[in-house]
Amino acid sequence: MTRQIYMDNAATTPIKKEVLDAMMPYFTEKFGNASSVYRVGRESKKALDESREKVAKSIGAKPKEIYFTGGGSEADNWAIKGVAFANRNKGNHIITSKIEHPAVLNTCEYLEKEGFEVTYLDVDEYGLINLDELKNSIKDETILITIMFANNEIGTIQPVKEIGEIAHQKGIYFHTDAVQAIGNVAINVEELNIDMLSLSAHKIYGPKGVGALYIRQGVKVHPYMHGGAQEKSRRAGTENIPGIVGLGKAIELATNNLEEHNSKLLKLRNKLINDVMSKIDYVRLNGHPEKRLPGNVNFSFEFIEGEALLLSLDMVGIAGSSGSACSSGSLDPSHVLMAIGLPHEIAHGSLRLSLGDFNNEEDIDYVVENLGIIVNRLRQMSPLYEKVRGNA
Ligand SMILES: *Cc1c(COP(=O)(O)O)cnc(C)c1O
Repeated sequence: MTRQIYMDNAATTPIKKEVLDAMMPYFTEKFGNASSVYRVGRESKKALDESREKVAKSIGAKPKEIYFTGGGSEADNWAIKGVAFANRNKGNHIITSKIEHPAVLNTCEYLEKEGFEVTYLDVDEYGLINLDELKNSIKDETILITIMFANNEIGTIQPVKEIGEIAHQKGIYFHTDAVQAIGNVAINVEELNIDMLSLSAHKIYGPKGVGALYIRQGVKVHPYMHGGAQEKSRRAGTENIPGIVGLGKAIELATNNLEEHNSKLLKLRNKLINDVMSKIDYVRLNGHPEKRLPGNVNFSFEFIEGEALLLSLDMVGIAGSSGSACSSGSLDPSHVLMAIGLPHEIAHGSLRLSLGDFNNEEDIDYVVENLGIIVNRLRQMSPLYEKVRGNA
């Protein structure tokens, strides 16, 4: 059997055993509804409260400011639509960036159809927004700035604290999608001037379909789900206790191990970048050289089609992701790679390898070796490459 090497941790992560162990009892003997008064109900309520405390602690928030959701996408939807509709009397203008996750971009596009105006900020070649451009785009009608903490494709980390400062000087709410940042960057919502923050369990070795939205006390936001009184009547529905327990455990592990995790990933990441850049020609690293997630690597290989590269990697047991993959089935390259100014043909040859806690140095060696062979083979089929080589 070929080796299986998983390097798509930005798409999802395997669940950790400690997390699964913490969840298991809540599927079986501890099945109670957290709203019930008898013992099994109280056990669920206690687990719910404890998880809320863990999530709050991990970002420097108060437990009552944490609302559990069905994942990162729901948290993004809620933050943006919730603020938009609750503050319509104040204004109808929202500022975001061109490189947001679809959960933010498509929510903003929806709001445009509902009469809101959205400014999509450009980013530079590294994927950073420009703070002066942000200041200049603020109007009297601006009610929300939503900028992601760290990008899921190229790993670039934004100047979140400064963005929050600008927002607060103008009395504007600041939401950040921190789904990729949690567990990789130390986050304190007070120090970073964040009013709302989205996070998700399955990107930090927890279960899928559960996340949370931090809503600073006093922020005016509409409820997301109408129904029972769960989540202070703002997000109705019987709580997903096993999932919430898993999120609590996962975020606790992630924040407790942050430094160890980061130094390990940084070492692996730098080895992967250095080895690939020194062994393969016509390759570029996308994203910021320093201001990037410790596990993120995003390359563009010239004269290669990203999809062909992915399929070839899969045949030798390597799971990565392509910047040119598009869920809609269109052939458009990634909106993020377009926004940082890559020409189409280079964006099409992109590969994201996102490292996680379960990767090791041998994985890197195996990937670099196979990548070299595959890139070479695919390029032999490229007339453009032949031409460049011929001229060399
Ligand atoms: C994965 C991801 C999401 C979506 O989270 P889900 O829990 O899968 O809904 C949102 N934003 C970013 C940056 C992500 O990486």
